[in-house]
Amino acid sequence: MRQQCLQGEGCMTAPGRYCIGTCYCGDCPQFTPMHFRPRRFNSPDPIRRYPKVTTPSAAAHQAAQPPRYQPAPRYRRLPERYERPGDPDGLGSELLQLIADDIGKQERSLQKEIGPSEVGSPCPRKVGYGLLQRPKLNPIAPPMWKAYVGTGVHKMLERALDRYNMATCPSMGHAERFYVETELQVGEIADQPLIGHCDVYDRVTHTVIDWKTNGPTMLKDHKANGPGQTYLAQTHLYGRGWAKYLGLPVDRVMLVFLPRQGELSDSYVWHEPYDERVALGALSRADGIWATLQALGPEQGLAVLPAVEDFCGNCDWFVPGHTGNILNGCPGQLPIVQPASPLTLEGVPAA
Ligand code: SF4
Repeated sequence: MRQQCLQGEGCMTAPGRYCIGTCYCGDCPQFTPMHFRPRRFNSPDPIRRYPKVTTPSAAAHQAAQPPRYQPAPRYRRLPERYERPGDPDGLGSELLQLIADDIGKQERSLQKEIGPSEVGSPCPRKVGYGLLQRPKLNPIAPPMWKAYVGTGVHKMLERALDRYNMATCPSMGHAERFYVETELQVGEIADQPLIGHCDVYDRVTHTVIDWKTNGPTMLKDHKANGPGQTYLAQTHLYGRGWAKYLGLPVDRVMLVFLPRQGELSDSYVWHEPYDERVALGALSRADGIWATLQALGPEQGLAVLPAVEDFCGNCDWFVPGHTGNILNGCPGQLPIVQPASPLTLEGVPAA
């Protein structure tokens, strides 16, 4: 007996043909393995006169079969009113705009509060804008494609470490080795918690790890000159978060610089022993910047804070040639305005 197949999920039969029982779709109502059905030709009422046949349960049948066939989705044309064929240029622009829009919706783009990755910037004014949570103003900043790629790499690495955790946990007392993508407090600035997202904590070696994706120039620079002030503060702040707020031992901090171009073998791994004083220095400097803004007011305070080149073109508050109210943008690196009080901590008035 063959039944007309209605194209149930998993069905390999062409539309309108008959079930041939080769799809392994054990739970398809149309599926009946041929050899379980005795054929009775010339029967006036074949269905009723068939003897009861014992078939294996769907679960047993499925277990005995190779991995289940995954059907392709059904492909159909859109209703004509939605179609717009023959417009490759328009499509190209549309796709790029779609990507740019998605970049703008990333958590990083929407984030307003300053985080550990900005606190250590060599530009005190930039930290000041961040502490004031000024809206992002840069009219020429391109969509942050590099950061978008970096986010993609982070997601892949998160999965890779999760898989590693799953594979190795039986041999580690059913405990995972790596804590990945952990939100944690790392300190306080002006009595407000400073929250960050740490990429990895290795429970075996007590190491705090942060991934960085770099282009060839920055990678070469980090290999030659180390991670720089911003990354240094960031990674020790994460170390402080694990040690102070989550109570876990931190022996060292590590930055893994991965190439955006090139091969994995071009990567550079930097590490050093964890030193809470680096984190406290960054927090104290931010406290000093905040105290300046409070004492002088946001406008005068920002004007007093030194403007130090820190990738100004990509700075959220860079407005080229801006001369008006500094709350509405920074023109980039400028001669330092004579400060009103003695400076400490690299040009920042003491808290
Ligand atoms: S534009 Fe440059 S100088 Fe101005 S706040 Fe940003 S990084 Fe600092």
